[in-house]
Amino acid sequence: MVIQITSSTDPGSTEAERSILTAMLRGARHLCPACGRGRLFARYLKVADTCPSCATELHHHRADDAPPYFTILVVGHLVVAGILSVEMALSPQPWVQALIWLPITLVLSLTLLPRFKGALIGLQWALRMHGFGEEPDPSEATLSHAGPVDPSTRPS
Ligand SMILES: [Zn+2]
Repeated sequence: MVIQITSSTDPGSTEAERSILTAMLRGARHLCPACGRGRLFARYLKVADTCPSCATELHHHRADDAPPYFTILVVGHLVVAGILSVEMALSPQPWVQALIWLPITLVLSLTLLPRFKGALIGLQWALRMHGFGEEPDPSEATLSHAGPVDPSTRPS
C-alpha cells in the first residue's frame, strides 16, 4: 500500500508536488524536507537558514510553541500512565518513582522536541506556508511596481 499525501496550492500549477508525509518524516529525522540529505538544524533547536545540501531556504518556518505543546502532550501521557502503572503494581517509595521517571521525562522531552519541530517545519514546507512556496518571479515584480493609474487617461 502506498500512502500519497501531497499539497499544491493550484491544481493546474506546474510547480513540483510536495509530499506532506515525506517532508514530515524527513523533518522528524532532522533532515531538510526538500532533499532529505542536508541537516535541518544548525544546533540543537536552531534551524539552519538554508539547507547545506540543496540550498533550500529554511528560515521561513514558524514552528513557534507547537513543538513544546506536542512534546508535553506525548511525554505527559506516557509518564503519567507509567507512574500510575508502577504505583498500582508495586507501590514503591515516592523517591523510587522520582528516580525512575525524572530521567525518563528529561530524555524523552529532549529527544522528542527537535523531532516534533522538524516534522512541523516539514509540514509547513510541504504546505508552502510562511514563504516556503514563494519563487521570485521577475515579470510579477515589474507588474506590481507599475504604480497608480493616471486619472487623465481613464475612460469617462
Ligand atoms: Zn535540502
